Amino acid sequence: MAATGLAAGAVALAPSLAATTAAASPRRALNTGDRVPALIIGSGYGGSVTALRLAQAGIDAHIVEMGRDWGTAASGVFTSTTSPDKRGFWLRNRTAQPVSHFMGVSIDKDIEKYVGILDCENMGGINVYQGRGVGGGSLVNGGMAVTPRRGYFEELLPSVDSNEMYGTFFPRANAGLGVNNIDQAWFESTEWYKFARTGRKTAERSGFKTTFVPNVYDMNYMKQEAAGAVPKSALAGEVIFGNHAGKKSLPKTYLAQAASTGKVTITSLHRVTKVVPSGAGYSVEMEQIDEQGNVVATKTVTADKVFFAAGSVGTSKLLVAMKAQGHLPNLSGEVGQGWGNNGNVMVARANHLWDPTGGKQSSIPTMGIDNWDDAGGPAFAEIAPFPAGADLFISLYLSITKNPERAQFQYNSSTGKVGLSWQTSQNQPGINMAKRIFDKINSKEGTIYRTDMFGGYKVWGDGLTYHPLGGAILNKATDNYGRLHGHPGLYVMDGALVPGNLGVNPFVTITALAERNIAAIVANDMH
Ligand SMILES: Cc1cc2nc3c(=O)[nH]c(=O)nc-3n(C[C@H](O)[C@H](O)[C@H](O)COP(=O)(O)OP(=O)(O)OC[C@H]3O[C@@H](n4cnc5c(N)ncnc54)[C@H](O)[C@@H]3O)c2cc1C
Repeated sequence: MAATGLAAGAVALAPSLAATTAAASPRRALNTGDRVPALIIGSGYGGSVTALRLAQAGIDAHIVEMGRDWGTAASGVFTSTTSPDKRGFWLRNRTAQPVSHFMGVSIDKDIEKYVGILDCENMGGINVYQGRGVGGGSLVNGGMAVTPRRGYFEELLPSVDSNEMYGTFFPRANAGLGVNNIDQAWFESTEWYKFARTGRKTAERSGFKTTFVPNVYDMNYMKQEAAGAVPKSALAGEVIFGNHAGKKSLPKTYLAQAASTGKVTITSLHRVTKVVPSGAGYSVEMEQIDEQGNVVATKTVTADKVFFAAGSVGTSKLLVAMKAQGHLPNLSGEVGQGWGNNGNVMVARANHLWDPTGGKQSSIPTMGIDNWDDAGGPAFAEIAPFPAGADLFISLYLSITKNPERAQFQYNSSTGKVGLSWQTSQNQPGINMAKRIFDKINSKEGTIYRTDMFGGYKVWGDGLTYHPLGGAILNKATDNYGRLHGHPGLYVMDGALVPGNLGVNPFVTITALAERNIAAIVANDMH
């Protein structure tokens, strides 16, 4: 349970700790009556950075995470990619694979309901995939670690000093995350990246620029996997249901560092449901859940400061509900606005038999097609693996397009739930932008789209996103450092701050913004 060294979970308390008074900040799972200086909702990128930097400044930081602690064991924890069991999905009776079909037939199957690692949260017109557990999205993502182009970052977040970001905070985030690059000579020769070389070759033959993409997966470890010297993770296809080795997920980076301060606890399998003003701070209500998602207890603790880091969707849903229910009435009307899917669209092409993609494929992408300068449809497409164990001649792509469409989170007073206004049709601009790349490649190559991987006869994977962004945009719903307007002592630290379209994979930017904002908050607000 405590493999990360700091996840308190719902563990039985040691007698000495159980006797901790409410006034002192406890070093254990939170209980009703506790009073803490800083409570952080969520243990993804925003939450982990916040916890580490508060702790380093001497402030006890308590993370509340609704997923379970997956630990850092090297085997036996995560389910398999090709045949996921209950550990793969968050509280569902049936799997919801992002690439849902093969040969037109659904590959989903029934599973037991469990607090699994990947959530497919249906938000009306879109399925939003998110990581669940201590480490948030870092547990399930592809590790692509991209610093956005400076010009576009400045266009997107003009209130942020880009000299500071590119001089200090992006480098700090890249270092903290352990970003590294693939050995290009190895990339050119290994069978494990044949799929990426084929994707590059076909793109370049149509005149597109391609680029290597940094990653947090330890590329030296991967080379050793290929050499048979260490247990395989990326080369065993592990990624969206967790990596047993190789990937520097947050429990191995920021959260491990946070644990070493001795000033951070994580209360896992607890879901925050309410935040209301209480005296000089806030009263925070949470539900403790069991591994089947049943509520086994409700708890109320008090915190001087509350940091929302539940991810774009989690944070936005909480804030919109708290405003609508009158618990945080002074929040800005900007809360819940400006959500986007980072222009995500998936598509697959069928290559000719003389352009194989390889039966062996690393699950970690390292190459992209950069068509961002195309004024008619800026897009960046990750050349994604499709590790099926046999050469299927498939090129799969996840495009990040400059789709300008946005949606709002809205409270439904009859259900008491928060929904998202996004319609599937809002992804058409993204499809049009991606088509500018792949129509051209197909026409040049004389190849076709696969129509069997996202439905019965469906070319575009347009009903899902891996990159939810926005809902509490920096300098709109918050001030320029994530302080929520109207309620001093409340902060947003995660992807909710980022306008809905970043142009690249988001976690480096989320991490760097959190680094920037927490530095200012520690310096000015935490006395
Ligand atoms: C399959 C997949 C692949 C991806 N690949 C990449 C990639 O290669 N590169 C990249 O940059 N990005 C990638 N992403 C996106 C990236 O993981 C996210 O952008 C990032 O994790 C968002 O960080 P965050 O801090 O905003 O929130 P998250 O990392 O989502 O963390 C939020 C945490 O809060 C918890 N939480 C939510 N609500 C509550 C609540 N009420 N109470 C308590 N806890 C709560 C959640 O369980 C979660 O652990 C991918 C995502 C997916 C799903």
